[in-house]
Amino acid sequence: MNVDVLILGGGLAGLSTAYHLGASGAGSRLVVEAKDRVGGTAGSEAHGGFTFDYTGHLLHLHDAHGQALVLDLLKGNLAEHQRRAWIYSHGVHTRYPFQANTRGLPAAVVADCVAGFLETAHRPDAPARRPDFLSWSRATFGAGITRHFMKPYNEKLWRVPLSRLTTEWQGRFVPKPSPAEVVYGALVDQNKLFGYNAGFRYPVRGGIQSLPDALAARLEPGVVRVNARVEAVDLREKVAVVAGLGEVRYERLVNTLPLVDFLDLAAPLPADVKAARRRLRWNTVWNLNLGVARAGVSDKHWVYYPEKRFPFYRVGFPGNFSSALAPAGGSPLYVEVARPGGARVDVPALERAVLRGLRDAEVLRPRDELAVKAWMPIKVGYVVYDFARAPALATIFRHTSALGVESIGRYGAWKYSFMEETILDGKRCAERLLGKSSAAAEENFAPLESPK
Ligand SMILES: Cc1cc2nc3c(=O)[nH]c(=O)nc-3n(C[C@H](O)[C@H](O)[C@H](O)COP(=O)(O)OP(=O)(O)OC[C@H]3O[C@@H](n4cnc5c(N)ncnc54)[C@H](O)[C@@H]3O)c2cc1C
Repeated sequence: MNVDVLILGGGLAGLSTAYHLGASGAGSRLVVEAKDRVGGTAGSEAHGGFTFDYTGHLLHLHDAHGQALVLDLLKGNLAEHQRRAWIYSHGVHTRYPFQANTRGLPAAVVADCVAGFLETAHRPDAPARRPDFLSWSRATFGAGITRHFMKPYNEKLWRVPLSRLTTEWQGRFVPKPSPAEVVYGALVDQNKLFGYNAGFRYPVRGGIQSLPDALAARLEPGVVRVNARVEAVDLREKVAVVAGLGEVRYERLVNTLPLVDFLDLAAPLPADVKAARRRLRWNTVWNLNLGVARAGVSDKHWVYYPEKRFPFYRVGFPGNFSSALAPAGGSPLYVEVARPGGARVDVPALERAVLRGLRDAEVLRPRDELAVKAWMPIKVGYVVYDFARAPALATIFRHTSALGVESIGRYGAWKYSFMEETILDGKRCAERLLGKSSAAAEENFAPLESPK
């Protein structure tokens, strides 16, 4: 089989590249997807009458093209919501973001947080040249907020010491309130929506799967092949071995698989690229979905759990995004636990700890019946922004770019990004393949920060 553009992976990045290339653009194009459906991480699974996403997948639309495309794809199937996000610690719920809403916590904790924040406002530290996340958090939010939320929560999520993390990833999504807002939020239940993800859109029916399905439906038949796992890629000969298709020869290659997986399939690779690949780190999100046989388990959208006594860092209630995700009388829940990528996990033991934690946090009642339990782990969940990442990527991409390979999307580009940005990654990749823009222009594009 011969194609002009071979696209590895049928998630949003791969589908968007094929869509933006258009039927007549760069010649023939083929998307090969290992699973039996498109969508990748932005997909959904049905279990016992419930529909589960790979944890919460909410639409934040900031770009004119991205917004117009998504609104058109999901015309008549989108609802708007105002975020209801909370934090549970010291036995109480406080509003997100923690740094602006400490009212209700024990007085000593509130004092610690507010005093520490005010100290940073009055005696700002000189900004470090290459700050690590922990020092940055202490300098930005103070010792109290760092101790009570930023450090424990981010350790649970990233699973690496925070002094090894850079601050590149946090961008605009960690809201910094003013001193007046911190003091006010310590005294009053302020229902002010901080941060740029204060509102979101979500499909009325079908879960987030309806987005990649709608995008795939815009492609001509035969452009996407599912159940077509890439097994090997010879970068020099420009040929990929794909299950069910055999050898596929290509002119240009677009990778959207997790970069580590792609490099493990690709040959030949020089020693410096192999060494750089070994320096890449990620976490796995162990996502347990529950179908609870009780309506209205929570009125919230999601809750963050910074304390060590709970194995999970976040629990979401997607029935409050869309009632179509659950049968009548049921509530869907997603529970997120992070572990270092590649670590062995005793899943039955983890499940017991999660269920115990949910009861301790009073999310589940002792007599609650679980109609469904479905693990949907995300093998590469978040790429770790440690100090080794950027130099390793420079080495890898120098080599792959020289071979004409595009590596894009959240995992192909090995970054922290969200669905709209992923769709735009595909658009810009298509433009480069069509000769309408250059990689240099791409580097000048200021990426949108993640919603979470
Ligand atoms: C926990 C979590 C929560 C998130 N929440 C949000 C949110 O609320 N809002 C938001 O906008 N974004 C969110 N995101 C981000 C969003 O999921 C991504 O931006 C987007 O789905 C990435 O798409 P992609 O195409 O780059 O990668 P993927 O979706 O991972 O696509 C890669 C595809 O490659 C396929 N593949 C893998 N190996 C092979 C192989 N050997 N051969 C063939 N195919 C293969 C996979 O099956 C997959 O379909 C979240 C992500 C995570 C992990």
